[in-house]
Order: sequence, then C-alpha cells, then structure tokens
Amino acid sequence: MNMNPKKERISSEKYTRDGAKYVCTRCKKKYFSKDEVEKCYDGHPVKKEETV
Ligand SMILES: [Zn+2]
Repeated sequence: MNMNPKKERISSEKYTRDGAKYVCTRCKKKYFSKDEVEKCYDGHPVKKEETV
C-alpha cells in the first residue's frame, strides 16, 4: 500500500526552510546550516504529548 511514489525523506519536523536558512520549528530560530538547526531542535525538551 504505497500511495506515494515519491520516497522522500522529509525531516521537516525539525526545521522549515526560509530561503537559504533553516528555521527550528520549536523556537523559530534561524540557522545557516542543517547541522545547527538539528542540534537546536534536539536540544529542546521533548514532549510526549504534542498539541497541534
Ligand atoms: Zn530551537
């Protein structure tokens, strides 16, 4: 059951793109490298229950 032929790895949970920058989805800080923004995201306390 694969409805999506495109198998793309989306790690957009951690960051969003803002032009050439990466924006942490938790604190909305902008970074110039994916490495940094992932570190930032991972540095935030992880909640089990997330209210969307
Ligand atoms: Zn952050």
